[in-house]
Amino acid sequence: MGSERVTAEQQQQPVWSRILDPAAIERKLAFNTYRVDPSRAHIRIIDHDVCLACERQQCINCCPANCYAPRDDGRVLFSYEGCVECGTCRIVCHVFDNIEWNYPRGGFGIQYQHG
Ligand code: SF4
Repeated sequence: MGSERVTAEQQQQPVWSRILDPAAIERKLAFNTYRVDPSRAHIRIIDHDVCLACERQQCINCCPANCYAPRDDGRVLFSYEGCVECGTCRIVCHVFDNIEWNYPRGGFGIQYQHG
């Protein structure tokens, strides 16, 4: 278990291409329900121009809900509707501290199927 070695050739590929079942997390997320607050995004990118200076843009790779996406102009597109409130983006943006992060208002946000 977990002893498979990654070849040099595989290491040149993006991490996501080595995931055996990329749809697995999507299937798990489909069990949850979301009550989106249309009047208030609980997370926002503070300054989109700051993202231009961020070489790795780890929010795009690390968000389990794919709330972040690269834009053609080098900035980052964000949508809060599918957020699972894990806090990962807040941590990976520690260098620039460019994410304003709050929990949704009471009654809004994700409702986990299994607690
Ligand atoms: Fe994605 Fe988690 Fe950040 Fe929500 S809190 S946007 S799910 S990384």
